[in-house]
Amino acid sequence: MFARILPVLCCLGLVAGCANDVTPRKFHNAPEIKGPELSLAFLRPDRRGMEDVLPTKGRLAGRTIPVSSVYDIRLKPREVVLTFDDGPVPGRTDSILDTLDEFGVKATFLMVGEMAHRHPETVRKVAARGHSIGSHSWGHPNLAKMSFDQAVAEIKRGEEAIRAAGAGPVKFFRFPYLADTSRLRTYMAARGVVVLDVDIDSKDYFKTGPTQVAARTMSTLHRQGGGIILFHDLQTRTAAMLPGFLAMLKREGYSVVHIVPADRPSMRLVFAN
Ligand SMILES: [Zn+2]
Repeated sequence: MFARILPVLCCLGLVAGCANDVTPRKFHNAPEIKGPELSLAFLRPDRRGMEDVLPTKGRLAGRTIPVSSVYDIRLKPREVVLTFDDGPVPGRTDSILDTLDEFGVKATFLMVGEMAHRHPETVRKVAARGHSIGSHSWGHPNLAKMSFDQAVAEIKRGEEAIRAAGAGPVKFFRFPYLADTSRLRTYMAARGVVVLDVDIDSKDYFKTGPTQVAARTMSTLHRQGGGIILFHDLQTRTAAMLPGFLAMLKREGYSVVHIVPADRPSMRLVFAN
């Protein structure tokens, strides 16, 4: 159901969830923050860690960071992590993969289980191209509004669909609409699954053109200095803006950090960057 109607509804701007997906609540309302936050992690002093795998100077492809908890994602100024939610979508996801290859960078795809179930060949393609894959639930519900047991079932079903499609164990997760609860975050952490929050919202679900998406994202990036960027491979405008956006990142001296699950850091991935 989700796979059939969401692209259409998102394009029409009729799904509040698409917009809620990137609510800035977590970064502007400190009292509500339940878990460790990623926002502005790169500004904290003395956090340079052992995750420094590769030098980044003069290259768009930056470090590869093995991640076993949110605390491992410690970015420096001008470092970004690219994340793509709500796919995979044949065509749009393929275009994004080609662009990422063109620039030699790796991203993280937070997939909806139902989409992965429908398009397993695209899931395998994302994995084969060396990107990280995480889950975004099975059907993209607001997990914070469900019972704990229902939410857990949704999460597990999504993970299983992605695993069954050929992505291997799922170690990253993003809450649909960024709607979490402290109990669910604790549950995910206990299972060794890293919840990815958002620092920079591209708002690529707004009905604007690719140029506006790139400009808006760069503007936020300039203010924040770096961080985890949220895109949606569901959106055609995102695929369209990505080459220009990555060119801007490169021109301005940013580097794209690849996060990988710490329990299976691939040497191939480390040295491929
Ligand atoms: Zn989403």
